[in-house]
Amino acid sequence: MLKILIVEDEKAIANLIKVNLSAQGYLCTLAYDGKRAADLIEQNCYDLILLDIMLPEIDGYELLAYVRPMGTPVIFITAMGTVEDKIKGLRLGADDYIVKPFQIGELIARVEAILRRTSKATTEYEIFGVSINTESRTVKKEGRSIDLTVKEFDLLIELIRNKNVALYRDRLYEKVWNEPFSGETRTLDSHIQRLRKKLDWDEHIKTVFRVGYRLEV
Ligand code: CA
Repeated sequence: MLKILIVEDEKAIANLIKVNLSAQGYLCTLAYDGKRAADLIEQNCYDLILLDIMLPEIDGYELLAYVRPMGTPVIFITAMGTVEDKIKGLRLGADDYIVKPFQIGELIARVEAILRRTSKATTEYEIFGVSINTESRTVKKEGRSIDLTVKEFDLLIELIRNKNVALYRDRLYEKVWNEPFSGETRTLDSHIQRLRKKLDWDEHIKTVFRVGYRLEV
């Protein structure tokens, strides 16, 4: 059973998350403040930590710095939706973040995506007749090699690892380009266009109005 630590001082939210993730079969533990969370992290081994940023005693940024060397994946849960906060979280090494208020379904999808990619290091994917190997960084469709640029490949992997999840343009850009999103969407959009064309995935890579993109599987 995968163990998840939920660190959140708003008890109603913490309990809501716990009820829903428990229903998905995860073993959940709650901490309502940073000090308690640090104690729990010290004494237990978690597969994932959901971490609020604004917390009593020790805040989420400090906890993240403490957790980081252990390699435990962390999803930031934050009410702060500014670009700076998101970037700071990702820079500090959070694996993902979710902004309050959020749909519980979205949270579950993100939890699953993170656990999928950390619990077993998948190196090969087979989707819609396309075989992708992340070790050799090769892509083949019906036996024929498809040449992707570095960014096109990284983008493809990001879409696959988060399949069926709507990915925000800024998040996707920051993840693949590893730099702050300036608001200029052309680079990302043109890479998506080329990916669709090269793989013949017009149907599968959906544009999500006002959000970004979703690989529908
Ligand atoms: Ca809080």
